[in-house]
Amino acid sequence: MKSKFTRKDILVLPNPNLRKKSAKVHVITEKTLQLVEDMKAAALDWEASRPNEVSVALSAVQIGVLERVVIIREDFDDKDNKNFIVLINPEITKYEGEVVTDQEGCLSVADVYGLVPRYEKVRLRATSLDGREIRIKSSTPFVARILQHEIDHINGMCFIDNITHEKNAFSVLTKDGSLEPIKYEDVAKMGILDLKEE
Ligand SMILES: [Zn+2]
Repeated sequence: MKSKFTRKDILVLPNPNLRKKSAKVHVITEKTLQLVEDMKAAALDWEASRPNEVSVALSAVQIGVLERVVIIREDFDDKDNKNFIVLINPEITKYEGEVVTDQEGCLSVADVYGLVPRYEKVRLRATSLDGREIRIKSSTPFVARILQHEIDHINGMCFIDNITHEKNAFSVLTKDGSLEPIKYEDVAKMGILDLKEE
C-alpha cells in the first residue's frame, strides 16, 4: 500500500481540527490501513526535513482525520528503523509514579517546545491493526510522555494546551538543534495558544 502524503499534509496550529475530539474506530477497514500508511509517510517526510528531530509519534487528527488512531516509532534512537507501532482506540488505564516536567515538541507546533508536566509511568490499552488487544506498560518516562501526548491529540488537545498560562515554559528550536527560551508574549503573538476562556 502506497501513500502520496508528505509533511505538507500535517496540520499545524492554529488549525482548529487539532482541537477537535477524534471518534472511535468501530471497524478496521482498507481505509484504516491506508490512513496508517498516510500517517507514516507524512511523519517520515517531516523527519527527513528536520535534521535535529525524530518523528516519534503521530495521531490521525494531525493529518486531518478525526479518528482515534496513533502511530509510535518502534525505536526512537534509531532513525533508520522506520517501523511504527499502530494503536487503534488507545486508552490510558493507569497513571503511575511521579509527575515530572520536561521538554515536549510536536509536529503540529512548528519549532516551539514547552515544559509539560506528565506522569512518569502509564499503562495503556489499544487495538492493533489486525484487531488484537494490545496492552502497553511504558518502559521509560519518555515513552510515558509520548503516550500521554498522543492521547491528548485524540482528545483534541495539543501539548501547549497543558501550559497555556505558564509564562516561563516555552522555548524555540534553533538551527543548531538546541532550545532557547522564548518570551511568553512572543508565543502568544504566534496565535497558537488557546486563550479564549480568558
Ligand atoms: Zn504532537
